[in-house]
Amino acid sequence: MLVSDSMAMISDRDVQGVRGSAWSAYDCLPVGVCIVTASGMIRYANPALHGLLACETGGLAGRTLCEFDLDRGLPRAWPVRRADGAARWVTVAETPLPVDTDDAGQGADALRMLTVTDVGALCRQAKGAGAPCGTGPAGMPMVDALLEAVPVPLFVKEADGRYSALGDAFPRPAGIDRPGMTGGNAGRDGAVSEWEGSIRVEAPFCTAEGAMRMASLIRAAFGERAGNPTGIAGAIHEPEETRPQEERLEAILEQSPVGVSVSRRDDGRIIFVNTRFAELIGLPREKLIGSRARDYYLDSHQRLRVLERLRGGGGVTNMEVQFKRADGSPFWTLFTVNQAVIQGVPVNLAWIYDYTERRSMEEALRDMASRDPLTGIYNRRSFMELARSQLARAHRFHEPLSVFVLDVDHFKRINDTFGHATGDDALRMVAAGCQAILREYDLLGRLGGEEFVVVLPGATADESRVVAERVRRHLARMPIEAPDGTFRLTASIGIAGLEGATDTLERAIHRADLALYRAKHLGRNRVAVFEPGM
Ligand code: GH3
Ligand code: MG
Ligand code: MG
Repeated sequence: MLVSDSMAMISDRDVQGVRGSAWSAYDCLPVGVCIVTASGMIRYANPALHGLLACETGGLAGRTLCEFDLDRGLPRAWPVRRADGAARWVTVAETPLPVDTDDAGQGADALRMLTVTDVGALCRQAKGAGAPCGTGPAGMPMVDALLEAVPVPLFVKEADGRYSALGDAFPRPAGIDRPGMTGGNAGRDGAVSEWEGSIRVEAPFCTAEGAMRMASLIRAAFGERAGNPTGIAGAIHEPEETRPQEERLEAILEQSPVGVSVSRRDDGRIIFVNTRFAELIGLPREKLIGSRARDYYLDSHQRLRVLERLRGGGGVTNMEVQFKRADGSPFWTLFTVNQAVIQGVPVNLAWIYDYTERRSMEEALRDMASRDPLTGIYNRRSFMELARSQLARAHRFHEPLSVFVLDVDHFKRINDTFGHATGDDALRMVAAGCQAILREYDLLGRLGGEEFVVVLPGATADESRVVAERVRRHLARMPIEAPDGTFRLTASIGIAGLEGATDTLERAIHRADLALYRAKHLGRNRVAVFEPGM
């Protein structure tokens, strides 16, 4: 009865009081301790934490972790903001406290205890102590306690570069075997030199296996007097999640000669572009951010192909995709896009390499390979290729097709009389003269020397004769410039039509050749159609 009465008389304030006195056990701890609610409100903080955050005793209760940047929850050191504006590097260990039923009944939230260790203080302490740190617990009990408690890899080195103490957190991130290193030689990674003060460096670090790896370090020298350090105390921190690293990444993307864009996967809106991307599209960055990536594709089929690959969970590597600039002009790119999650947002990370110049060069080379360099018409190889597909088409649709072969008469004499250069001009004129008379879909090629070949799709041998006659007359009237005036030339033409469904291009050309031979034989400057028995 007495017990339950007294229980009933304990108010919420008393609960706080009882708690407060229990928590005051932390008052004498040399590391910062606070009790916070789930939402981050400080209910209790010990004097060490008040000192660390430059707050008057009692001034922290009721304030929030975020006011001091204490709420980051990273498993490594970071700088907190003190009340006086200065930054202090700390590490934080967090322990959830059991929920009190009374509190739970009144809707109070769960409490956690944070242990805040001033990493900077460790270095200063070590420096102040002046003595080598390898003397063990008796020499520096607080340093050893910190080495054990702090969840970042702390180290103390002697002047000759030997590790004299390593924190408990060491083996995990740095891969270093602590007992194997302390006092041993495996950890020598350079002796202490003349520098002094607390600095941040990227430095190679020796692992237990003797391998070197790069790490980001904060370190400070200590010793009896400045300029003559007897050791270094420091901490390794991994730089991936720190701001400078993000800035470095952006700087790298900025330098990239390839256009980079990041767009959100849910709505396709662009959230980042580098300068090169903005240059390629021809819009300022501000206009690109927030616009939709789909608007820059030229061809919706190409866009759908990319989308299909992305929907399948994959990416696209160096696909030839055409985009359009702000002024509507197209450009070819080698396009690479991958899916990623950046700061929790699913995104498409795209790289565009401007390929226009290379592509037009390739097209020009391809064109050059298919053309006769003297006359610009198809060379023998590409003529045969194109003519063969016309022949296949004629067979498939049962349409007529005929071939004629044209040979300049007494061309040798032209060369002999006016010189080889004029002969070349004459060949160019013959090609142009043929082209002027032929229809757009007739194929003209140079078989070699002063011999040309034409395929006339849809024309019978008789219809071709009309065309060939026109060509012959046109050439015969065409004046050709020579050094001492102009001259004229003539040509002979042999014609052959398709014969049956299995006729080949080679056989048709051969028959046209026989007809040409007949035309030459009959006196040149004439057209002959192939007849059996020729
Ligand atoms: P025919 O009337 O019987 O056809 O007599 P032709 O002189 O035209 O025939 P022939 O085959 O005896 O001579 C062809 C000449 O064409 C020989 C060669 O030097 C010349 N020729 C071949 N290719 C070229 C060229 O690219 N440029 C020049 N200028 N001449 C060429
Ligand atoms: Mg010839
Ligand atoms: Mg000839």
